[in-house]
Amino acid sequence: MKKFVNISLSLLILVSVFWVTGNEVSANTILSDIPAGHPVEEQVEFLVNKEIISGYPDGTFRPNNSVTRREAAIVIAKAFNLNGNQRKTSFSDVASSDYASGYIQSAHEAGFISGYGNDTYKPDRYMTRGEMSYLLSKAFNFSASKNYYFIDVNPFSHYYDVINRLANNGVTIGYTDDTFRPDKIVTRGEFAIFTSRSLESSFRIMKEQTNPEKRIIKADWLNVRKGPGTSYDSAGLIKEGTLVSSYFKTGNWAYIKAPGYEGFVYATYLGVPVSALSGKVITVDPGHGDTDPGATANGLVEKEVVLSVGKKLRTYLERAGVKVVMTRSDDSYPSLSDRVGIAEKSNSDSFISIHANKFHSDAAHGTETFYNYYSPQGAEAKKLATYIQNRLYKAIDTSNRGVKHGNFQVIRDNYVPGVLVELGFLSNPNDARKLASNAYREKAAEAIYLGILDYYKNK
Ligand SMILES: [Zn+2]
Repeated sequence: MKKFVNISLSLLILVSVFWVTGNEVSANTILSDIPAGHPVEEQVEFLVNKEIISGYPDGTFRPNNSVTRREAAIVIAKAFNLNGNQRKTSFSDVASSDYASGYIQSAHEAGFISGYGNDTYKPDRYMTRGEMSYLLSKAFNFSASKNYYFIDVNPFSHYYDVINRLANNGVTIGYTDDTFRPDKIVTRGEFAIFTSRSLESSFRIMKEQTNPEKRIIKADWLNVRKGPGTSYDSAGLIKEGTLVSSYFKTGNWAYIKAPGYEGFVYATYLGVPVSALSGKVITVDPGHGDTDPGATANGLVEKEVVLSVGKKLRTYLERAGVKVVMTRSDDSYPSLSDRVGIAEKSNSDSFISIHANKFHSDAAHGTETFYNYYSPQGAEAKKLATYIQNRLYKAIDTSNRGVKHGNFQVIRDNYVPGVLVELGFLSNPNDARKLASNAYREKAAEAIYLGILDYYKNK
């Protein structure tokens, strides 16, 4: 094993340098391998000046060397000015003759360090980054959060709590690949950075927490596991359609949470992100129905076109976590006041009525979206109409007839913000050709969905 110089001894040597010269001496003039501009220069200088760490007698710091558990205890005890007098310890493998016995015992009594089960401390063993997190989070009493920071430190991990506390207080940002690597041996340079950030808030650096995305499970009875792989124990089975929060991915596995569930699922079975729309209730109202066909032209019947688009819209919305209420999902005819009643009784957040247009000549063409200025939530309805219109005419490549005030009962006498979409003119051959095609109906439904999403994102 590599022999380490006694830290307190080298500190004495360093201190004597200060005394001998009698001048302000910065770390980088003492430590030849930490020149000005070195990534750990300021932190090492800060700790050296506080007499918490020191270099080797040859004037080097050796930032890439590993830190033993003995050295770590000395540093933390010094950082808190704990009693370093050599004495008997609670650990069978740390004799009172050990030069660090006082520091180790003081740090232990302060609750900063703990030993192994059999009353040993293993002072010569190298310290891992996980153990260091334990040490620092205990010593500095850092607060915990419910945030997720590192893809290799999930809430089932042994060191989750203490590493979370360091990240939550700006002491670590981990590696650029969003890992923390808790089993890696900590280096002197890393230890200096973590300790200086713990002591001095101006050194701290915050890692953005991983923000969860709302997703819908799209496989029936998906296994939630305690780790990212099939070899990990199951933490439960989650049902198709369940709304979950997805925090991060490790390989093909995503870390998710839902009421009663927490763990990893195979990421393929997560639906599209749904954030802004999750939990919303939206009434979709395909116009006309039954004995009321609506407009008919070019072989198309309005009630059929709008039911088809409405059902596709329902699929888009449901995938995004919306509870969809249909005024009709077959060839039935609810009255206009029934349609309003369905939206209001379901406490819908918005009401989307879908229609197609007709004119006495084939010249009229294009897409328009109506709101009612005098309706109880006319201003919101106008915004919603604008977002939908801006998506819709572009998606199906029709002319933009704009967003208009319209005196239609379903959007006028409705406490739910409502819009009425006219997809295009069945009487115009070009518009009709598009509305006859399944692909364009799909595009129209997606565009209405995206317009609704835009509205709630910006609300
Ligand atoms: Zn109509």
